[in-house]
Amino acid sequence: VGNCTYCGQSAGFLRSKHKDCYAKNQDGLNQVNHLIADGIFDKNLLSTLDEKLCNIKTDYYLSPEQVKNSLVKNWENAVNKSLDDGLLKKEEEALLIRFKEHFNFSQEELNKNDCFFRLAKAAILRDITEGTIPERVIVTDGLPFNLLKNEKLVWLFKGTQLYEDRTKRYYTGGSSGLSIRIAKGLYYRTSAFRGSPVTYTQKTHIDTGILGVTNKHIYFSGATKNFRIKFEKIVAFIPYDDGIGIQKDGANAKPQTFVTKDGWFTYNLLSNLSQF
Ligand SMILES: [Zn+2]
Repeated sequence: VGNCTYCGQSAGFLRSKHKDCYAKNQDGLNQVNHLIADGIFDKNLLSTLDEKLCNIKTDYYLSPEQVKNSLVKNWENAVNKSLDDGLLKKEEEALLIRFKEHFNFSQEELNKNDCFFRLAKAAILRDITEGTIPERVIVTDGLPFNLLKNEKLVWLFKGTQLYEDRTKRYYTGGSSGLSIRIAKGLYYRTSAFRGSPVTYTQKTHIDTGILGVTNKHIYFSGATKNFRIKFEKIVAFIPYDDGIGIQKDGANAKPQTFVTKDGWFTYNLLSNLSQF
């Protein structure tokens, strides 16, 4: 005879829960979801939340994991909702961060679906458009490049792929040396004739590494390539879904493409910082 996982009483032969207890548990979970979803942007929520959660937890047999998962999921929903219009209001950000701190959630716990980074990115773009250089990134394991005096790190994209445009030449109108049978004999066409050269550009993968963005430069640090580019030297940014293209000043400068996996943020970040 097994005991009910919710109320702890005997649940009957080969049973692990009472149907009613399960239903009650789900009801409690809904109550927690509503409590957070409706109140997360209410600045008075936290003053009574702990007591309310404690009561629901006991009355409806909620496990600590159920409560925690509900808090995280509703926090993530609130982040996504507040970013729907692409703008994060200061008050919204403050309440979301206060919620994080109240429950002592780590960055990792809130970033399983990339929501903590989404929040940080939106706050950074807001800072920049309001004329402030954001100082929100703390590097804990050594930056691979040396910043100048008064230079501020704004964001790091790890695992960025660097591509450069390379010109290749191929030939059109050439023969591949096929043979054509004419009447009784075999006539071989020569393969020496290659036709006229046509050039085309191809994006070639050069390296993978860290793309750092400061208020003055973009830095790249990979296994074989390390360089920085001053914003003033960039004449055009080309937006892509998954990254950004950069055209530097100078007749011979080849376009470079950085695949950061977040083209929207990369383009907005770089194009706005370059206006400073
Ligand atoms: Zn039960």
